[in-house]
Amino acid sequence: MGECRYKRVLLKLSGESFCEPGEFGINGATLESIAERVIEVCRMGPQVAIVVGAGNILRGETFSRTSHIPRNTADYMGMLATIINACALQETLEKMGQPTRVLSAIEVAAMCEPFIRRRALHHLEGGRVTILAGGTGNPFFTTDTCAALRASELDADLLIKATKVDGVYSDDPKKNPQARLFDRISYAEVLQQGLRIMDHAAISLCRDNGIPIIVLNIFRKGNIAKAICGDPIGTVIGP
Ligand code: UDP
Repeated sequence: MGECRYKRVLLKLSGESFCEPGEFGINGATLESIAERVIEVCRMGPQVAIVVGAGNILRGETFSRTSHIPRNTADYMGMLATIINACALQETLEKMGQPTRVLSAIEVAAMCEPFIRRRALHHLEGGRVTILAGGTGNPFFTTDTCAALRASELDADLLIKATKVDGVYSDDPKKNPQARLFDRISYAEVLQQGLRIMDHAAISLCRDNGIPIIVLNIFRKGNIAKAICGDPIGTVIGP
């Protein structure tokens, strides 16, 4: 494996990274294996920021559709759930010896610092994994859009979207065995073909700010490390 190509990487961890496939909540062993992947990357030298999702606990849109809870409140509940995941990831990384900070867009003063761009940069420059919680702090957004926004704000050179699949497919590989895995695809093609790997706002933000995205399977050991060395892994979304 070569050297790390990037100075600052933003890693988007969906809620599904915190539990076993098809399950909900937080699974300790899964969390430990994700934390090991993160540490693998840190050892290679780049500054690492992480945006965490919360699909393992609550997604506002689904919850409001299937309950009496209005969308605004459900989305705030989703954002609070990202703070729960962030704290779990922080404890796991620190148990493994990796210094971290959690910065949240929704203030929970007893648990974490507020998200302030300059403070996030300060932590990144100090070598601390900077876990960004609370989404954007606004309802009607996703943590994918938040990841694109924070990658832009923090001048990240790369956004890695960690998933449980191997990259971007032409169709759902579970339903269509003919679905093709792209090794590279443009922002425009993702938008035109309506590929549902990330929401359009996230893709557009990365395109407008020139941030490449790599979509990869985080559950395969060594994948993220390969990606940041420029080895072919997952799908690269770029110009
Ligand atoms: N959310 C929000 N604003 C944001 C980010 C997230 O309202 O800026 C809420 C929204 O309800 C979302 C939930 O937080 O469903 C969890 O985020 P997401 O669905 O993106 O998690 P993931 O799919 O990555 O696990």
